[in-house]
Amino acid sequence: KAQLLDGKRISREILTELRSEIDAWHAIGRKKPHLSVVLVGNNPASLSYVGNKLKAAKSAGITSETIRLPESISQSDLLSLLESLNTNRNVDGILVQFPLPPHISERAVCDTVSPQKDVDGFHVESMGHLCQGKEGFYPCTPLGIMELLKRSGVDTFGKNAVVCGRSKNVGMPTAMLMHADGCGDATTTICHRHTPNKQMRAFVGLADILITAVGQPGLITADMVRDGVVVVDVGITRRFDSAKNAFVLKGDVDFEGVSQKASFITPVPGGVGPMTVCMLIKNTFTAARKLRGYKEREAAEESISDYDRE
Ligand code: NAD
Repeated sequence: KAQLLDGKRISREILTELRSEIDAWHAIGRKKPHLSVVLVGNNPASLSYVGNKLKAAKSAGITSETIRLPESISQSDLLSLLESLNTNRNVDGILVQFPLPPHISERAVCDTVSPQKDVDGFHVESMGHLCQGKEGFYPCTPLGIMELLKRSGVDTFGKNAVVCGRSKNVGMPTAMLMHADGCGDATTTICHRHTPNKQMRAFVGLADILITAVGQPGLITADMVRDGVVVVDVGITRRFDSAKNAFVLKGDVDFEGVSQKASFITPVPGGVGPMTVCMLIKNTFTAARKLRGYKEREAAEESISDYDRE
């Protein structure tokens, strides 16, 4: 039976590591890194995701705020708010929780956040850096997946990886990291909604590492995968479970069946979700260090500029 890719445990370890780095940074008189989260409307899933992010920020020693805006806010008012956060020296990272109401362009929002504070990695400049393999802010879910595999001892080098889903925020950047030189180095195939079912079965059957980011419970069943496959299930679908008389979160993978054949598998919840959150905290700390011109070897007190001082 498969070993769990335990995102909950590994994310706790990473947050503890970050906490000690951030405490050391703070101890010499620097302001703590600060994350501003913008939340439009009252979507219950978004409220819960934002809650998890703020909780993780707190546990790592990062200060944060949630700016709540009504569903009816205009695009231009939202963009003006982002511009003011861009120039606010107390703010290191900016995150706008998606989805946004349909009258607001998510692309316009992503491209208004300053690339220096783009801790979600969705700005077109950040995406360019990702595609070029240059240093920059990479999206949190793909980063979290790579870190989860690395810390669980899963080698990706030269393996066959299949990514189901090609969204700009999850599937596509995950495939980018999985195949990239010096990163995943896997032979990577992307399947999407127009991949014929027969083809998808053929590709999935060849995967050493299978990553699904679709949002369709039951998409991947045991008969589709090979023995020893490593399975990363990114999908999250909220479904009513009549036996439990409650809503439960479901991944894309039939966990019970597939875990009989896989060597490693993520649970849902408790797999990729917590890893996504802790990569956001890591990106926020990186943003603070870069914005404030911090260099590791200049950790001495005299390198603290006035605005950085607490
Ligand atoms: P999306 O709707 O933007 O993209 C879904 C993708 O699935 C599309 O690229 C589409 O082409 C593809 N697809 C649809 N049907 C398919 C099929 N039959 N076979 C193969 N591919 C198919 O969604 P998204 O934002 O990429 O999110 C995907 C899932 O991951 C959702 O369930 C979402 O809730 C979840 N998610 C989880 C995390 C996390 O941290 N765990 C983060 C982001 C998203």
